[in-house]
Amino acid sequence: MEQETEQLETYFGLPAHVEFCSQCVMSNQRPLAKRSEFNHNSESKTRTIRFENGICSACQYNEKKRDNIDWTQREKELREVCEKYRKDDGSYDCIVSGSGGKDSTMVSHILKYKYNMHPLTVTWAPHMYTEIGWRNFQSWIDSGFDNILVHPNGKVHKLLTKLAFQNLLHPFQPFIFGQKNLAPKMAVQFDIPLIFYGEPGIEYGDPAKDNSGRTRDPMYHTGSDHMNLQLGGIPVKDLIEKHGLHYNDLKAFLPVDPDIYAQKKIQVHYLGYYIRWDPQEAYYYAAENTGFQANTERTEGSYSKYSSIDDKADPFHYFTTLIKFGIGRATYDAAQEVRNKKITREEAVALVKKFDNEFPKKYFTEFLDYINMTEEQFWKTVDKFRSPHLWKKEDEQWKMRHVVYDNVPQTPSV
Ligand SMILES: [Zn+2]
Repeated sequence: MEQETEQLETYFGLPAHVEFCSQCVMSNQRPLAKRSEFNHNSESKTRTIRFENGICSACQYNEKKRDNIDWTQREKELREVCEKYRKDDGSYDCIVSGSGGKDSTMVSHILKYKYNMHPLTVTWAPHMYTEIGWRNFQSWIDSGFDNILVHPNGKVHKLLTKLAFQNLLHPFQPFIFGQKNLAPKMAVQFDIPLIFYGEPGIEYGDPAKDNSGRTRDPMYHTGSDHMNLQLGGIPVKDLIEKHGLHYNDLKAFLPVDPDIYAQKKIQVHYLGYYIRWDPQEAYYYAAENTGFQANTERTEGSYSKYSSIDDKADPFHYFTTLIKFGIGRATYDAAQEVRNKKITREEAVALVKKFDNEFPKKYFTEFLDYINMTEEQFWKTVDKFRSPHLWKKEDEQWKMRHVVYDNVPQTPSV
């Protein structure tokens, strides 16, 4: 069967041979964070997670995290960073980027109440707030933070989401632009050179600067020559010429200039480098300290109730990763929980089997309205992005060629 697959066409530069990690449930098709999302177009090739002896790099990092990192030393490093930047007059000395989800809530709360920092929190609004997301956002602010909430022009946000969906099957791309670039831009505007995010991408197998995950490389969130950067897979100059937009309509989505960023000596740090990061612990911390609430029902496509619950467009992000890479939301959630020793690999495999393929029905109509598409147009677009090495059509039904529940290793590895 594998030989047959090797000959099938692959899209987006994905590896022809599909392999599942023998420790978690992640596959080798998992894309890595793009060096610059602004160069992403329909021709782009995707870099994928590294596997070594059947084990993904996220699992390799997590083993190291548990066993080899001196967390006392790391906390000392955090105290040194705070000492260096702390403002004794109580004015803002760091920016925390976040939505009021469990992670940003914990990051800001710990920095303020344990390390005596004075964070300004900044938020890029989701495409469409869920009720629980808005409530959690309010609770976060009410627990003691100033916040700047940026809502980009709704008309432009919808158009870019539609273009990203049509050209890249990546409707979440406009959110990623905001989430990555807003804090650095605010840092420039308010002269606050220290920014904190929560989890480093290295936890999930993304490459990290200096291999440590301490800071984020500025190439991810700076950029010059705006006219040639691409949003929704289309260069800014074409969005202006062919879609009737003005440069100012797009500025909210564009990155800060690398020279200005360097002059201001801005740094993006991950708190997850300094303290041992565990998503479930972040949830408990946020619930206890800021009144963060989990959802009353599980997220469609998974079994989880407290991760990424603030955007009605979010389930469509994971639906598109299932189409493009064969990796749905339950796979992401379960892989992380295996690494953090919350569930066994066998449990993870069962959860993936049960939930990964579930279509997110709940907000489907609202999502179609948002991107101004009919259901027929939606499915036509989706089907264009099914790579032949991952999908086949049988009796008019799309089926995945490789699933982790057919690949359970003979010897349990957890
Ligand atoms: Zn793994």
